[in-house]
Amino acid sequence: MSTESSANSLSEFGNPNLEIFYSEDAIRERIREMGRQISADYRGMDLVLVGVLKGSCIFLADLMREIDLPLTIDFMSVSSYKDGTTSSGDVEILKDLSNPIRDKDVLVVEDIVDTGLTLTRLLELLGSRGARSIKLASFLDKPEPRINKDLEIHYVGFTVPNKFVVGYGLDAAGRYRNLPFVGVVKDPSKA
Ligand code: 5GP
Repeated sequence: MSTESSANSLSEFGNPNLEIFYSEDAIRERIREMGRQISADYRGMDLVLVGVLKGSCIFLADLMREIDLPLTIDFMSVSSYKDGTTSSGDVEILKDLSNPIRDKDVLVVEDIVDTGLTLTRLLELLGSRGARSIKLASFLDKPEPRINKDLEIHYVGFTVPNKFVVGYGLDAAGRYRNLPFVGVVKDPSKA
């Protein structure tokens, strides 16, 4: 095997450069609880889950299977963090919803709320479209760097310290989204 192909076949899940914050089991248990709560809160309502791409894809897929109600899903894509680890403060709509949300009960599903700038802009936009209700579910809440202190997150998976976390949908320059756990890259200079 060439050096290149053996490097490519190294295990990512067992990568020694990753410190695990939340295990697969802990995540599953927490999302089950969130699903139970959301199922109780939205009974009899017209629920639409709006996933914010790409980071929320795994959370959305797991969360929706814990919500035992009729529901639909839709997606938006907004730019915030590009290939770096700091916020640009710039939010641009890259992909809009496929369907109208008028008279719907919208639950925005996000991977992590950090400064809150992305969500603030997104909620403003959705708020102008006649939804009956708009709430926010975020897998992770990182409150320390929050700029919009008024942003209310109605459903939170875990509250994390002010570190750059990866896995379970969250990336660093596109990598690590496939990790089944949430972790921190110990030495970012090592690939
Ligand atoms: P905010 O606008 O709240 O500062 O940033 C939200 C977006 O920034 C998230 O949807 C996510 O894409 C990215 N982000 C913020 N903190 C982290 C982090 O710790 N790890 C990763 N991978 N992305 C983050």
